[in-house]
Amino acid sequence: MSNVFVLDTNKQPLNPMHPGRARLLLTQGKAAVWRRYPFTVILKQAVSDPLLEPLRLKLDPGSKTTGMALVDDATGQVMWAAELSHRGQTIKKSLDGRRGVRRGRRHRHTRYRRPRFANRRRPEGWLPPSLESRIANVLTWTRRLMRLCPITTLSMELVKFDTQALENPEIAGVEYQQGQLSGYELREYLLEKWGRQCAYCDTKEVSLQVEHILSRAKGGGDRTSNLTLACESCNVKKGTQDIREVLKDQPERLARILAQAKAPLKDAAAVNATRWALYERLTATRLPIECGTGGRTKYNRATRHLPKAHWLDAACVGASTPEVLGVAGVRPWLITATGSGCRQMCSMDKRGFPRTGPKQAKSVQGFQTGDLVRVRVPTGKYAGIHVGRVLVRASGSFDIRTKQGRVQGISHRYCRSIHRCDGYSYAQGGQDDPSAPLQKKNGHSSPA
Ligand SMILES: [Zn+2]
Repeated sequence: MSNVFVLDTNKQPLNPMHPGRARLLLTQGKAAVWRRYPFTVILKQAVSDPLLEPLRLKLDPGSKTTGMALVDDATGQVMWAAELSHRGQTIKKSLDGRRGVRRGRRHRHTRYRRPRFANRRRPEGWLPPSLESRIANVLTWTRRLMRLCPITTLSMELVKFDTQALENPEIAGVEYQQGQLSGYELREYLLEKWGRQCAYCDTKEVSLQVEHILSRAKGGGDRTSNLTLACESCNVKKGTQDIREVLKDQPERLARILAQAKAPLKDAAAVNATRWALYERLTATRLPIECGTGGRTKYNRATRHLPKAHWLDAACVGASTPEVLGVAGVRPWLITATGSGCRQMCSMDKRGFPRTGPKQAKSVQGFQTGDLVRVRVPTGKYAGIHVGRVLVRASGSFDIRTKQGRVQGISHRYCRSIHRCDGYSYAQGGQDDPSAPLQKKNGHSSPA
């Protein structure tokens, strides 16, 4: 189930409704489809005094995927959710390709020029194009959703851990307790400080445990400078032994761990540049923004017994998260950024020579490659109805990519646009019930 957005006769947003109700309105002719993705209907009759429940848009920005959730704070119900996949890697790859071609060409044609030196300047706040695209994706969707439903507040995960909550962790120490909010903030702090790997064997992407360098049995405290992260086998192997005893064969590692334990993590490490830029640009929406920490998100997710998913993380961002989150039956949209074409005027071979003629007009008879169309072919091999993405040709004879395969040579006169290509592709996420309780983890070991 994914709720349907509703607009009134003046295109003003109303609260999202259950898809069953929307279907009823559509069959009764009281509403019409306004947009396919995300599914939005527009009412045909004016509603007097609509009751608007304020919604909160919650964002969990990630490097590959950003989670989005619309939450009704009053009822705790997740009204709509999506996972937005970015195209950072694709952008990086195509820019690297372009750089290679240009460098080769410069090398061939301008090799007698004096080499340029330090003549490039980047404006204040410049971010690489791959990161810019992530920010642009999130802003696009924030603005889109603001047009489709009554959003009054934003929440976003800004930092990984709360330096205020830890309050000078290196000197004062934080009581390390599993299940407490401070414990989660501390864990995020340690993950950042120790590079998300086991301090003893450098294993990554395993569940890491908080490890006392001088064990508690020998009087070691919970001060952060006495804590590190270890994988389960290393933690068990070390036990209550002295670290000097355990690492007597690896003096370099021993020295590194002891030095790193003493060094406090700089505050700046808690906020990454992309999230900070996103926060600053979200302020332009003039909506109040609540900032959460990664530690708080994990704590909220654990106390509400929810599994790990980007949209559930988004729903758990911030201190405002309702005690009980209604997530049963919510199916998130899986939105993938695909880009909207490229600006290159003609394709080239690997040596940088033109391989094709110059680019034709993008729009043919009102259609663009990538538009979702419905085709009714009256006669011939492909007679029938097809729905799929169109591939346009200047001749007006299009191909349609459907789920069943490619339908070739279809005249533009048979095509009707369902959804214009908007730079994103859409799919519906899984239906497994996220409200099913998780297995409880024991003791110190919760997954990192
Ligand atoms: Zn290890």
